[in-house]
Amino acid sequence: MTNPRQLTLFGESVSSEPPDPTSDPPPRPTRLGRAAIEYRPAGAILTKATGFMEEYDFTLNPYSGCAFGCTYCYAAFFSRASGSMTGAERRDRWGRWVQVKENAVRLLEKRRKRLDGTLIYMSSVTDPYQPIERKLKLTRQLLEILARRHRPKLVVQTRSPDVVRDADLFREIEANGGRVQVNLTVTTDDEDVRKAFEPSCPSNARRLAAARQLVEEGIQSCITMTPLLLVRDAKEFAASLLATGVEKFIIQPFHFQRGKFVAGTRDDALAIVAEKLRRGRGQVMPRYRDHYNQAEHVIRQRLERAGCRLGEGKDGFNPPF
Ligand code: SF4
Repeated sequence: MTNPRQLTLFGESVSSEPPDPTSDPPPRPTRLGRAAIEYRPAGAILTKATGFMEEYDFTLNPYSGCAFGCTYCYAAFFSRASGSMTGAERRDRWGRWVQVKENAVRLLEKRRKRLDGTLIYMSSVTDPYQPIERKLKLTRQLLEILARRHRPKLVVQTRSPDVVRDADLFREIEANGGRVQVNLTVTTDDEDVRKAFEPSCPSNARRLAAARQLVEEGIQSCITMTPLLLVRDAKEFAASLLATGVEKFIIQPFHFQRGKFVAGTRDDALAIVAEKLRRGRGQVMPRYRDHYNQAEHVIRQRLERAGCRLGEGKDGFNPPF
């Protein structure tokens, strides 16, 4: 069970235990690393899924913004003006702010209509296990409600090994008749590449170890190479993917262009690829496509030979249940 003191953090209670009037609520951090942490009420906690996620019923994002701040993150496009920052400022400062949906627990708790069989994707525009989750346990509180009051079909998407913490709740959801799949994103076998593109994310080695742990815990798991960045040794990389025991994978290329990409982010990412591929910027895209095609071919061959499933792009992300 979650410590009732943690629940008072959001002014909510999902526990029947009476609050201890002598205890102060834990402090709400306003900064974690380079990210400013803001607390705001949300209008809703379940959002009708559209676009890439249209096969799901709802997306569930406990936070807005993401302190992992991956240089290629598409979620930055969805940043909206709030507080003293415009939408453009939020896009340009992606990775340096997080908004906690402080009423998320109450919103989910007060939902009367059961979510039995409802397809939920958590999360589409944030990482539910980014660093602040360790302190606030907001994602965990939402999972507790899903586990104890509903029977959802839930896909959890993250780049953090911290997802293993909630294996007990994933099992509880399954035991109560719901379904869970955890998607862990692993993007490269090259730590230099990872540090360049995802400097604030845990290493891919730690993510692979977490994937293995999830399999050992009996949690349905999938590794998403989304995007597949530059790979040093595709054969070795495929072997390390197989060593996790995961049998489902999704792969898709890195896109340089996507609508109004965050100017600084796109340029940073492009410069990194150009340097790694030893090509001028004008030649980067075709050279990366060659690299992707070769690596994808080797990885696909090895995974499929081992009896694993490899989905691609949007189809790969369709609900697995
Ligand atoms: S972890 Fe996901 S949401 Fe967070 S910055 Fe990276 S790609 Fe974006």
